[in-house]
Amino acid sequence: MRIDVLTLFPEMFDGVFSSSILGKARDKGIVSLNTVNFREYSNNKHNTVDDYPYGGGGGMVLKPEPIFAAVEDLPKHQEAGQEPAKPRVILMCPQGTPFSQKIAEELSSEEHLVFICGHYEGYDERIRQYLVTDELSIGDYVLTGGELPAMVVIDSVVRLLPGVLGNEMSAVTDSFSTGLLEYPHYTRPAKFREWEVPDMLLSGHHENVKRWRRKESILRTLERRPDLLEGRELSKEEKVWIMEWREKNK
Ligand code: SAM
Repeated sequence: MRIDVLTLFPEMFDGVFSSSILGKARDKGIVSLNTVNFREYSNNKHNTVDDYPYGGGGGMVLKPEPIFAAVEDLPKHQEAGQEPAKPRVILMCPQGTPFSQKIAEELSSEEHLVFICGHYEGYDERIRQYLVTDELSIGDYVLTGGELPAMVVIDSVVRLLPGVLGNEMSAVTDSFSTGLLEYPHYTRPAKFREWEVPDMLLSGHHENVKRWRRKESILRTLERRPDLLEGRELSKEEKVWIMEWREKNK
């Protein structure tokens, strides 16, 4: 996968792109992570990329020319002999589709993603209308720029690429991948202070452990995110677990 990020602050990505799982994925050649400072595509002598909004009001608006030019110039950076894939061009903005694990899974099958990070009051609307394919928000709050949101999306997409996570199973059982929150984890020691690991996990009985985890996952979701269970088909046993939990927590 190739990822290009259009930003006015490329240095913000240095640590994130070279550390931990993303750094390893890049070193292994699974993903190529690039930043483009779209100020370099400004077509005026002061290198400005923003201007006052038509109609007045506070805040500056990102101009269309540098962002269109930077996206249109991306094929130039393609490695020799590489067939250019049509990229998904993703605008980070609080008005976008709320980002989710499902969207991360969908994006992880693409060959080329382009992220546009805004700043200031916003973007010229023509960028939204005529350049981008997707608009994504990471939540109902407003940040100063699109860099942190782009990092969030990139991290969650890259960890899903084959060969990135050491243990492939860890992404499969993650919260939201199954539509549920994940079950609780424990590790050694079996007794820490007066708190003991549930007996079931020490039993070595794989089927029972699987069932215990399923139950914990269902009950944890019921307790913390009941919305995730709405419309979900439940087995007879799962319905009993839920009834028992409701009885106990009346
Ligand atoms: N005036 C804009 C509005 O009300 O929708 C907010 C602009 S915000 C100060 C500047 C930039 O930060 C946005 O263009 C976007 O790139 C980014 N941003 C802020 N909050 C975001 C969020 N929740 N999700 C994604 N991007 C966000």
